[in-house]
Amino acid sequence: MIRSECYEMENVFANDSVISIKSSKPIVSVVHRNDFDKHLLDSAGDAGAGISTEESFRGVELGETLTVRTNKRNISADYLVGADGVNSSVAKSAMLWEHWPTLRTALGIECDVPIGDFNPQKVRVQFGDYTGYIWEFPRGEVLDVGIIGDMSDASLHGRIQSFMQMNGYTGRIKGWHLPVAGVGRMPTVSRNRVLLVGDASGAVDPWFGEGIYYALLSGEQAAHSIIAGSNAQSTYQASYRKFWNDMVWAKRFAQLFFNNKSFVPFFLANDKKLRALLIQLLSGEISFRELFIRTTLRAPSPAAKFWLNRAMPGRSQNSNPTMPS
Ligand SMILES: Cc1cc2nc3c(=O)[nH]c(=O)nc-3n(C[C@H](O)[C@H](O)[C@H](O)COP(=O)(O)OP(=O)(O)OC[C@H]3O[C@@H](n4cnc5c(N)ncnc54)[C@H](O)[C@@H]3O)c2cc1C
Repeated sequence: MIRSECYEMENVFANDSVISIKSSKPIVSVVHRNDFDKHLLDSAGDAGAGISTEESFRGVELGETLTVRTNKRNISADYLVGADGVNSSVAKSAMLWEHWPTLRTALGIECDVPIGDFNPQKVRVQFGDYTGYIWEFPRGEVLDVGIIGDMSDASLHGRIQSFMQMNGYTGRIKGWHLPVAGVGRMPTVSRNRVLLVGDASGAVDPWFGEGIYYALLSGEQAAHSIIAGSNAQSTYQASYRKFWNDMVWAKRFAQLFFNNKSFVPFFLANDKKLRALLIQLLSGEISFRELFIRTTLRAPSPAAKFWLNRAMPGRSQNSNPTMPS
């Protein structure tokens, strides 16, 4: 199912420094969303789930037993798990929506182009003078090119269009909203035996916009909470709290990262341990909390060198580096 495995992440910064992070294990594995969704659907079917693909959710009536309305029928249910994305109808119908007005929304715009001579074992991300980044992810025969940034940033369309033009990429771009976790008040994701998972619960990290891992994790946690019995809602809300707390650290890390655009490339180029920490985060080996704490503990010495170098150019090495890891 994996179309490309990438062992290198090339980070291009606004000051033209290029920092390459390499690993002997894949840093990023790229799947086609259709293959992945089919695999999940087949696995659910194999595990005994009834699957109805031509049926859409219309509403839920809350009560002793839930009545789930679809375009075809009414279904009685003990629990309802809303996995219906960022504009969740389940959340709205179960009146969970009103509890997360402060949830921020990001915008993702992407396009598939022919892979050409792009290295199929490398991903490239490019940071600019805005909060977000442009990505180039190989996926078999195609290159997935896109941009993510703040929903309120009107420059994103123009940025991705000029990037594509500059690189000779042509194709139709499409945009989607993403929720952003760790910002504002934690949402209520479970009430009246309705549980929200994935994007419906806002489970996307505020630094890189990763949501698939958290969608799977929240689905698993919702299932465990229901299987565990009587306290499904509070058990699920508690596991969500752990996730949310780590996303608060992710948001702090994102702010440090995006607000220090000249120091970050210097820090990355001069600190091998920091590059290793990022690989550990991307592989799920450490939390954002651990990343944030260990990064800030490592920062003072490179920060001193960086500012010294700015004050007295030439004293410190690698001030504007192109560095392999
Ligand atoms: C451009 C872009 C690129 C991204 N790239 C990455 C990435 O590289 N890595 C990563 O980890 N994350 C990425 N994300 C985030 C990731 O796509 C989401 O976090 C993830 O898809 C969330 O999965 P989900 O199942 O919760 O929601 P969704 O994928 O949105 O799925 C919701 C499903 O519910 C269905 N649905 C909606 N309403 C109804 C209804 N009324 N009745 C029945 N069904 C309904 C929809 O048809 C859909 O199938 C990206 C997001 C964007 C926008």
